[in-house]
Amino acid sequence: MTSVSDPASARQSRAITGQRVTPETRARLAASPGAQRPPRSLALEWGPGDAAPVGRRPWHYAKHVSTGLNAAADQRVTRRHVRAAQREILWHESHLERVRKCGRVPVGGTGHVLVRDNADVAHYAGLATCGSIWACPVCSGKIRNTRADDISQATAKWDRQGNAVYMATFTAPHDMGMRLRNLLPVIADGFRTVISGRAWVGESPSAYAKRVERWEDNGLHKGRPRPVRSTGIKERLGIVGTIRAMEVTYGAHGWHPHLHVLVYIEGEMNARGLTELTLYLRKRWARFIVKAGYRVPHDTHGVQVQLCESAEEAGKYIAKTQDGRAVGNEIARGDLKQGRKESRTPFEILDDFRWTGDAEDLAIWHEYESATKGHQAITWSKGLRAILGATDEKSDEDIAAEEIGGADLALIPNDLWSAIVKVPGLSSCVLDSAERGGLDAINRLLSHHGLGPALPPEALKYLE
Ligand SMILES: [Zn+2]
Repeated sequence: MTSVSDPASARQSRAITGQRVTPETRARLAASPGAQRPPRSLALEWGPGDAAPVGRRPWHYAKHVSTGLNAAADQRVTRRHVRAAQREILWHESHLERVRKCGRVPVGGTGHVLVRDNADVAHYAGLATCGSIWACPVCSGKIRNTRADDISQATAKWDRQGNAVYMATFTAPHDMGMRLRNLLPVIADGFRTVISGRAWVGESPSAYAKRVERWEDNGLHKGRPRPVRSTGIKERLGIVGTIRAMEVTYGAHGWHPHLHVLVYIEGEMNARGLTELTLYLRKRWARFIVKAGYRVPHDTHGVQVQLCESAEEAGKYIAKTQDGRAVGNEIARGDLKQGRKESRTPFEILDDFRWTGDAEDLAIWHEYESATKGHQAITWSKGLRAILGATDEKSDEDIAAEEIGGADLALIPNDLWSAIVKVPGLSSCVLDSAERGGLDAINRLLSHHGLGPALPPEALKYLE
């Protein structure tokens, strides 16, 4: 492990305040006037052709934000800087080709890039998007926001019809100590097992018909009650479906995956129903985990069930806890509250690497991005979309690539764009300038870096 010498580094700030610092706070601290700034030569020395910068000085990474972020920037702008800076690290360090190209490589014939304005928010048009909900800080933010809205809307409708929604968290023993690649299927299979089988769905109509037939055939039925079809817990409690989200954190015992599940119930469920559901889930979950070869999950922490109070909460619970900002995080990361050694979300690990250059963090990140690739993060049970009257699900790639449109502010010719992405953090600063003062402000910024000019959008017809 490399040493940490920077005063603004994550670990030291944590030691001082006793709690984790968010990536946004960390970026602001570094951007504030008192912060030590890297020499300008250092800020410009790292080009895409360089070797992987593992183990270099922390400022080597921090500069992405500290040299460009305005200390007075609001939450939206700060978050944009942080996400873009994290993605810039991945342009160089990711093993996933799509992520290395995301937001950097122009798409379409011309190779030129447009800066657009939509309701006073600037964005780029004409760049590749990777669409990874797991591995890309920028696409993940966009996808998770859309999914959260989608779930909140469907849940609000369900709510208004007088129905209930419960939130269930499933965790596995902390010391499972497996490679993430092997762990994810175990957790997904475990949940599928819990919501299938006779105890959940009840006796199938055909199995029941056969039982009745046997009962009629055997001639002994006279005077005895006719067999009753055995119902499952799903039917008894009026469960119409589930939405599950897979989440992972990394802590003292390695990978810690967990599931956040919304359980949609027709009508209301009384206290007895809640007890029955909780006990059922705990028993089936524990049975699966033990069968798969692990220690019995914690009696109560293994599965926790609680009423979902609002539709907005439902969306956040499924789609935004990995950001570390939603209610479900409290439950899923009980390890934090117990004062265990730090447990970090993958983007927190990436951000730590950005500031410290810690090679171990980079190795953890690489394991994460390859293990999660191709796994579904958020899964609706079959038929639930129709029941909730939700619109058709868009793919992650489509959401990430969606162009929101707006007025064209500036045209960045292909060769200028290539120069911009070589300067750490500059592509975020161009958007800040665009929001402050359009094309003129963009060009003032670029000339400060010895670049430019960007052109008025109508210049497109004069370029090839
Ligand atoms: Zn992306």
